Amino acid sequence: MKTYKIALIKGDGIGPEIIDEAVKVLDAVASCCDIEFSYEEALMGGCAYDITGDPLPQETINISLNSDAVLFGAIGGAKWDNLPREKRPESGLLRFRKELGVYANLRPATVFDELINASSLKPEVVKGVDLMVVRELIGGIYFGEPKGRDENKGWNTMVYTREEIVRIAHQAFKIAMTRSKRVCSIDKANVLDVSQLWREVVTEVACEYPEVELSHMYVDNAAMQLIRDPRQFDVMLTGNIFGDILSDEASMLSGSIGLLPSASVGAKIGVYEPIHGSAPDIAGQGIANPIATILSASMMLRYALGEHVAADKIDAAVKRALKEGYRTKDLAQYDAKEVCSTSEMGSIIANYAAK
Ligand code: NAD
Repeated sequence: MKTYKIALIKGDGIGPEIIDEAVKVLDAVASCCDIEFSYEEALMGGCAYDITGDPLPQETINISLNSDAVLFGAIGGAKWDNLPREKRPESGLLRFRKELGVYANLRPATVFDELINASSLKPEVVKGVDLMVVRELIGGIYFGEPKGRDENKGWNTMVYTREEIVRIAHQAFKIAMTRSKRVCSIDKANVLDVSQLWREVVTEVACEYPEVELSHMYVDNAAMQLIRDPRQFDVMLTGNIFGDILSDEASMLSGSIGLLPSASVGAKIGVYEPIHGSAPDIAGQGIANPIATILSASMMLRYALGEHVAADKIDAAVKRALKEGYRTKDLAQYDAKEVCSTSEMGSIIANYAAK
């Protein structure tokens, strides 16, 4: 039997509720896949600040680096919004990604047939959508120097090195090899020098993946194509800021933010987390949708641990729960047979996953 050590960062708001359900499902699937998980909890975000005075205690980094993977809930809330920037929960999260060196953010956007009416787009446009945004996460304009502001001027620098582009491009091509073998690289090469280098380097890396079809698209067109005809995309490869915007746009194709998982990878230890925040407006009410976190746990099994059978079981269990009409409150108006709590949804999925 294989044993994996998982660092659990529950965080703030709904974080603890949704992580508890993901753990329930992981334990259920472990029992039938001859694997075992040991968990170690670590603090991050507002709760970490309240206890230690730091939103990212060193101990959290140590626990994470000493694990096989990190399963993360969400951080943040109004209570900590007025702290100095470096003490805010969000600063802890940015620093965490940088410390771990997870430079690639993978965000799948899938439309479940059962929830086709939950999308804000027409069913005939979104039916069958299954795309993956591969976003560079720790470079680009969010980190580039010089940056700053004075009273009358603010400035940031969009910068990518060849090395940074090469490594994120490899991630995208490798993922495309496990999917429909198409990569669309997004840039603004008609205006930005940094994008011209991006396009050149991605094209060079593509030569190492002759089976993968590469296309390039300007970011403004990509924003339009995502809602005009999202099925044209398989893997979308982007820099940090373009990916931030496009992956949020792509997430809306599926209907609820509570459905979408993500993985931040590229270093020894990856971080697996739902794309949504800590949802303080619904925290503690038992109505949060745990599916995004449960699917993040499935991504963890697939990408960090290579446990594809267990991951497939979780994905199938989520589909089955939705097909049978179980819905949390956020999706209650879409063909619900039964509206369930966070914990009930976790138990239903765990039960199916264990079969
Ligand atoms: P949010 O994603 O927390 O919530 C947006 C809306 O979606 C809310 O109405 C919320 O109730 C709903 N929602 C989110 N997750 C849900 C779920 N699982 N089930 C049902 N409904 C869900 O975004 P926000 O309100 O802009 O931010 C709240 C806090 O979260 C802020 O402090 C923000 O900085 C933080 N945040 C953290 C992360 C992270 O931890 N990775 C990401 C984004 C925002």
